[in-house]
Amino acid sequence: MLVRLDKHLVEASVGTRSQVKELIKKGRISVNGNNKLKPELKIDNEKDKIFFDGQEIILKRFEYFMLNKPAGVISASRDKNAKTVVDLILDKTRADLFPIGRLDKDTHGLVIISNDGDLAHKMLSPKKHVEKTYYLKARGTIEASVATKFMEGIILKDSSKEDGSFKTLPAKLEILETSNESLDYIDEDSREECHYEGLVTACRITIKEGKYHQIKKMFRAVESEVLYLQRVSMGNLELDPNLAEGEYRELTEKELEDLK
Ligand code: URA
Repeated sequence: MLVRLDKHLVEASVGTRSQVKELIKKGRISVNGNNKLKPELKIDNEKDKIFFDGQEIILKRFEYFMLNKPAGVISASRDKNAKTVVDLILDKTRADLFPIGRLDKDTHGLVIISNDGDLAHKMLSPKKHVEKTYYLKARGTIEASVATKFMEGIILKDSSKEDGSFKTLPAKLEILETSNESLDYIDEDSREECHYEGLVTACRITIKEGKYHQIKKMFRAVESEVLYLQRVSMGNLELDPNLAEGEYRELTEKELEDLK
């Protein structure tokens, strides 16, 4: 990935922006053997050989970000037509970032963005049953019996299965409150923006799998509909409440340790 030389040196903890500019000016930094350089020079941080006083500067191998995904952005690395979650990470130094797990285009909330394939495998492997918690608003009133059904597992359609269906793993549903609301949402069948006014029930749900449209399908199966969906945690990692939608930050060492 092409980045400015001074930015790269700051990222690699060589010094502050002004310190690295001074080092470049003094000829103590070399790129592919050349030390007559300008701070704004664009370097390829995966290919170019960069040395400081004769010692090679190795770029961080992995990057880890937490993003508060807004609706309207797709969970992919790149796309010709739509903005992706990776496009929102402006400070990236790696070109190989991807989202660990997918959220629907209209779903909000926590997405981990990294280039660490082992972590992705650990978080997403169906065998690991990593818990994912969502806050949601569902159409109408949700009876306590729905929580029992979700805990027991319900049968959903899945065309990839031999008999065309699968049973969900036990999911924990907390019914929070029912109120009158007016909100816009994307209709799952027509993909059109719709408006709803009436009773909605706020809930928290924790699932241990991640089938396509799983939560939306679960609420459809109990004659409701998800009108708003936000992921609030994945494994031990909780969405930072200080991040507004569209904002991101690097994971702390502790958060990363707890995930691994
Ligand atoms: N379940 C859904 O239906 N959609 C998501 O984006 C995530 C879980």
